[in-house]
Amino acid sequence: MLQPLQQFICDKCKKVIERPEFGYVEYLSQIEKRDGRMMQIRSGFKIVHNSKEKSCHFFERSIELCTLPLRDFFVNDSKFSLIFSFLDEGEILTPTGIAVEIKDVREYTDFVKRILIPYYEEARIYFDEAKIDGFFDGDNEYFVYSSSKMKEIVEKYTG
Ligand SMILES: [Zn+2]
Repeated sequence: MLQPLQQFICDKCKKVIERPEFGYVEYLSQIEKRDGRMMQIRSGFKIVHNSKEKSCHFFERSIELCTLPLRDFFVNDSKFSLIFSFLDEGEILTPTGIAVEIKDVREYTDFVKRILIPYYEEARIYFDEAKIDGFFDGDNEYFVYSSSKMKEIVEKYTG
């Protein structure tokens, strides 16, 4: 079993990233002009290895490729503001800054769940199987992703 919110599955090699310090988040940022305003459209949000021993890249190198240390999402003082900054830079900087936009909200939400909901990272491997088994029948749209539900899936399908 993965250690919740400490260990992750690399999106490139599918092997375990032992600690946030050994991972990177890769995403793409496309600049677009819309209604006279510059926009940064973000997508991707993959978690990959990045350490002395192992370095993986999900995306090809390009001008659009951005990376952030995975551990930045685990700094208690700033992790929520980092997560929110991808959705909106907020009123302090926006008037002079470039507006941000998430291309695919579901893709971004999946990434955020991976770093915030205990057991989600491992449970998502079994979602298709659990759906077929009727594991989510009767759950609502948020309880279905609760930490307790995620833990139940991991226990049931890794056992
Ligand atoms: Zn890897």
